[in-house]
Amino acid sequence: MRKLQGIAVSPGVAIGEALVMDNEGFRIPRRFVARDAVVDELERLEKAVAAAATEIAHHRETVSAELGEKYGGIFEAHLQMLQDAKLRSEVEEMIRQRHYSPEYAVSRVLRRYAQVFQRLESSYLAERASDIFDIEKRLLRHLLGRRREGIAHLTSPVLVLAHNLTPSETANLDRRFVRGFVTEVGGPGSHTAIVAEALEIPAVVGTGAFLTEVSGGELTIIDGDKGLVILQPDEETLNRYRREAEELRIQATKLEPLRELPAETRDGVRVQLLGNIEFPYEVDHCVDRGADGVGLYRTEFLYLGADSEPTEEVHLQAYTRVVQAMGDKPVVIRTFDLGADKMPNMARMEDERNPCLGLRSIRLALRNLPIFRTQLRAIMRATPLGKVRIMFPLVSTLLELRQAKMVLADVMEDLQEHNVPFDRDVPVGMMVETPAAVMMADRFVEEVDFLSLGTNDLIQYALAVDRSNKDVVNLYNPADPAVLRLIAMAIQAASRKQLPISMCGQMSGSPLYTMLLLGMGLRQLSVTPSAIPEVKSLCRSVTIPECQAVAQRVMGMEHARDVKNYLKEEVKKYVREITE
Ligand code: PEP
Ligand code: MG
Repeated sequence: MRKLQGIAVSPGVAIGEALVMDNEGFRIPRRFVARDAVVDELERLEKAVAAAATEIAHHRETVSAELGEKYGGIFEAHLQMLQDAKLRSEVEEMIRQRHYSPEYAVSRVLRRYAQVFQRLESSYLAERASDIFDIEKRLLRHLLGRRREGIAHLTSPVLVLAHNLTPSETANLDRRFVRGFVTEVGGPGSHTAIVAEALEIPAVVGTGAFLTEVSGGELTIIDGDKGLVILQPDEETLNRYRREAEELRIQATKLEPLRELPAETRDGVRVQLLGNIEFPYEVDHCVDRGADGVGLYRTEFLYLGADSEPTEEVHLQAYTRVVQAMGDKPVVIRTFDLGADKMPNMARMEDERNPCLGLRSIRLALRNLPIFRTQLRAIMRATPLGKVRIMFPLVSTLLELRQAKMVLADVMEDLQEHNVPFDRDVPVGMMVETPAAVMMADRFVEEVDFLSLGTNDLIQYALAVDRSNKDVVNLYNPADPAVLRLIAMAIQAASRKQLPISMCGQMSGSPLYTMLLLGMGLRQLSVTPSAIPEVKSLCRSVTIPECQAVAQRVMGMEHARDVKNYLKEEVKKYVREITE
């Protein structure tokens, strides 16, 4: 048994077989071959070994000729390992006796060899492990050939263990079979983490390197609440987690009746609890949890899953699905927020040194007007179908907002000219997710119909911490007094103008902050759909004066740690246990 500590990004417990994706994206599932196919499979292995040997010999010749025998010798060593009789017979035995597929057998045997080297004291010998991984990859490349499988063709339940998953790779995980995932890198605010919540599967990111120590098929536990990953758990641990998973299921069903009840405080103040969605199907999760609407639809995922730019019709279909499912409840459609960690396959954008500070979001939209206009046309065409609102992301200057609104006005003129029906009075709002937007909030409120606090980015930009970087996770803190002051400023600017303001960053879905946010004056929270019941339950347990007292205490504190400890104690008075 081995335990790894990572960052908890999506709650719940998952227990199952590991599917290992290494840096090159190979999947090495535990597969078996039919008894009568063993001879053919051994032959396939033979061919792969021969092809790998030819390749290595070729490298040896080229490198020796160009850099000298000493360097060519590296490949000679690889060749000897590849052709080592003992190693070879172990792989063959696994295929013959256990009927493992050659891919799985190669991976099992070579990884075991590598682990022995990794454990040796001598750093020189420990480094030889990477030579073995190199041979493993080479053999797998030949064995899988064109069949090099992504994670698109799964047939049984798995827990994906990967070095990294991009938001679009995560978005494309097969929900029928992927029961959870772990990545070696990544931070708490990454969109990969956000997508895990959309998929409603437990996930842990930022564990650091461990993939070389696991083989596909190994039993694994993902504890998405504590950020723990347990490889090859012992019987006792396994039983404990099985009980915990059952308890979580029971707990979730206990909250189900809340679906029909409003998010209303004990003293009768109605709170709007809306859902954040990335994919149209999630609107069902919102309806199931009794959401008061969709407070954030991250439409950029339409681009992330596609090979080409989505057409106006593709946009319209997605919006129609969401807006109609919500009926008379509002749907805030945010225009595409691409860039930074959300890179589409279609347009190869230039590599940027600082993508979070680069051409992302509304900036990208204003530089690519045809793409922006296509989306705006589709959103406008969806307006007669329900209660649509438009929201612009990452606005940092008044000029940007005005430009975006001008493009929208232009799109409306165009639609009118062609007699396409739309609602001219569609409310237009913006995300407040840069410190600049907070500082200028008193001006912005004059030009929009609503504001929405995007704390995921606001924390990143206010504290200068990368939301996707595990190494600065201790600094990425919603409870930081600097962040809280920014939030308070934005709320004040909106309330002076009596303008609706909500919060749609991850912070709003954490019950730890519910009392604080209500006490600070927020009455609209847009959260991951799965978080609605817990947040609603808390809203229904407290009064606004109680929340205001909490907010007042917190705003006088100097350290994020004190804020968190205090909030934990306060919230515990109302609910038994909370997920942060
Ligand atoms: C945010 O930044 O808080 C937000 C809601 O937007 P995203 O997470 O998509 O950047
Ligand atoms: Mg954002």
